[in-house]
Amino acid sequence: MSDFFIHSTRCFLNGSFKEATLYIKGNRIERIFEGEKRLDSVTFTSYGNKIMMPGIIDAHVHINEPGRTLWEGFDSATKAAAVGGITTLIEMPLNASPVTSTLPAFKQKKVATKGKLHVNCGFYGGIVPHNTEDIEDLLRFGAFGIKGFLSHSGIDEFPKVDKKVLSTIAPILKKYDVPLLLHCELEDTDVPEVVDTKSYQEYLASRPQRWEQNAIDLAIEVQKEFDIKVHVVHLSASDAIDKLIQRKLETRKLTVETCPHYVYFNAEEIPDASPIYKCAPPIRGKENNLLLLKGIQTGLIDFIGSDHSPAPPDVKQLESGDFFKAWGGISGLQFSLPVMNTKCFKEAIALEKLIPLLTENPAKFLGLENKKGFLKEGFDADIVVWDDNEIFELKEELIQHRHKPTPYLNHKLKGVVKATFVNGNLVFSESEIIATNKGELLERNNKKPYNHN
Ligand SMILES: [Zn+2]
Repeated sequence: MSDFFIHSTRCFLNGSFKEATLYIKGNRIERIFEGEKRLDSVTFTSYGNKIMMPGIIDAHVHINEPGRTLWEGFDSATKAAAVGGITTLIEMPLNASPVTSTLPAFKQKKVATKGKLHVNCGFYGGIVPHNTEDIEDLLRFGAFGIKGFLSHSGIDEFPKVDKKVLSTIAPILKKYDVPLLLHCELEDTDVPEVVDTKSYQEYLASRPQRWEQNAIDLAIEVQKEFDIKVHVVHLSASDAIDKLIQRKLETRKLTVETCPHYVYFNAEEIPDASPIYKCAPPIRGKENNLLLLKGIQTGLIDFIGSDHSPAPPDVKQLESGDFFKAWGGISGLQFSLPVMNTKCFKEAIALEKLIPLLTENPAKFLGLENKKGFLKEGFDADIVVWDDNEIFELKEELIQHRHKPTPYLNHKLKGVVKATFVNGNLVFSESEIIATNKGELLERNNKKPYNHN
């Protein structure tokens, strides 16, 4: 069993930065020593004043394998994660084909990861109108949650659901104490007619805040009525903040996530004919986005997920520039940390506020808080070391995603990952992937559900 010391003067321990030495043995953090600790027989590496913190947990990623592996894949996505300091990611039930709405599809996805997991990975299951009978199987086999859409998902095999379907599965979700993740947009036809499909402002107007508000009303209603965990994925509408805060004051079973692109980009700066920025809900205006960012400070936002959802350039309509035909999804898995660091630094949000949203909070959401998300003795040695002050320009050659187009290209970002450890293995060091296949397939511990009867 390999063992070694790693040291930093800024280890993120119990919510603040302290000098410490971690003793890593096998796949665990065996001991944590205050200050600098050395032993002649044990290799010692100091990372100086670089930040040492738990590996990032990205609870919202689309990898699209099997079936749409041309869009992304486990090999490229988990390499990108390792380079980006992400040590655990949870993959969405779409856009693989088949979609993950049945146990055979769930198992098929697990098989597809073979030899391709460079970081830890688990899966959600999906709820569609015709699979209410499959949900318990998905949970028994370790799904981390059940995801549903309240509007068209973009994938025909993954139709939207309504309250009736959700109420059918609510007792099962409650029995297993597992969250229902909802894409919160509720379509109506009261939107302006589209004249120019290349206009970003017209795209923005086609998916108003009202859609999100109405869907969030329904999400809160379902949460309240069935007393289950409900998670609002990728919040973009600041108009919904007040009602979310109000319900969050009453229960801990409502959680909210936003994504780097919703706080980093602003609608005012998005050029026409550039569907590389297309996602749903859309990136809104600057004032709106600052309110989302403020939610990091106030506890409105529980965690940050990348919602990495790439597609090949033709599916993204990069040539035609048509926002309405393009696939909606931002490619950005690898860059969550520098993007959030850049933005939070600019808006004077402390790292002590940001880091838990990338580490411990998603761990708690996923039920992994007893082994991941914190630097603690006995925990899995999933660790990232990074320089929060170094600035780099995002060039294509740095990108590990299958497709290089991303709206972050050529941006100057602050924050460079120096080393990533996955299960006690140094997998990325000084710009190189140095070890592969160190990730584990994760399952939520759903086998012994809480007995509510
Ligand atoms: Zn998504």
